[in-house]
Amino acid sequence: MTSRVALVTGGTGGIGTAICKRLAKAGHRVATNYRNEEKARAWEQAMRAEGFEFTLVPGDVSSPEDAEAMVRRVEEALGPVEVLVNNAGITRDSTFHKMTPQQWTDVITTNLNACYNVTRPVIEGMRERKWGRIVQISSINGQKGQYGQANYAAAKAGMHGFTISLAQENAKLGITVNTVSPGYIGTDMVMAVPEAVRDKIVAQIPTGRLGTPEEIAYSVAFFVADEAAWITGANLAANGGQYMGW
Ligand code: NDP
Repeated sequence: MTSRVALVTGGTGGIGTAICKRLAKAGHRVATNYRNEEKARAWEQAMRAEGFEFTLVPGDVSSPEDAEAMVRRVEEALGPVEVLVNNAGITRDSTFHKMTPQQWTDVITTNLNACYNVTRPVIEGMRERKWGRIVQISSINGQKGQYGQANYAAAKAGMHGFTISLAQENAKLGITVNTVSPGYIGTDMVMAVPEAVRDKIVAQIPTGRLGTPEEIAYSVAFFVADEAAWITGANLAANGGQYMGW
């Protein structure tokens, strides 16, 4: 395994932390962004206690200017970004007939526009160097839709449209672009859902349990590996069998 420079957005979150650790264990040099300095330093300390050293840079992925500055900071610290994982994301759930413009815009901006904002400053370098790995963290709900998540499902489905277009444009240049679509994972995002609702969700999962962040990290590492050079434009559904479509 060649050691690469990897940028994981939203690396301090539930799934992001597992992705950062998995890539670091594979020998990569990993950076992530933060918005809240205090929270980020506490995370950094916890990671150090477990033996991990990550590069932390400030940056809000919903802003093109912030995202570009974030990428340049990573480059200054570690060198060119060779692996990008677009993982940062939010939900702002509401049935559509009650959804505010803010709920719509926040979710589209943070999940989908962020893919443009962060990928744009890294793609030219990847094309020049003729090597790159880009992975989007989408969602099962971008595949099957979800009551109360028209904004989120639209953004997550859009991320896969982004993936397959970018995959075509860059395939000849040694850059693979893929999507991981997690099902329900036991992170803060899902544990914030009322227990009764969670129980109903689990009842719909053939494996009979929520997924773990480590299982998503494994899916990301699969796409990042040197051996995955011929896999591009794919969507890996890691969802315990809850949805078996595209
Ligand atoms: P968390 O809420 O635990 O983590 C989200 C991360 O994204 C945090 O580090 C957060 O930073 C960061 N983030 C959010 N908004 C921004 C922003 N504007 N700029 C920079 N960073 C930002 O979520 P998960 O780990 O559960 O989710 C990770 C990804 O997986 C998301 O894209 C989510 O949609 C997707 N997913 C999750 C599923 C699940 O069941 N948990 C299922 C399917 C998909 P901060 O601490 O500053 O808020």
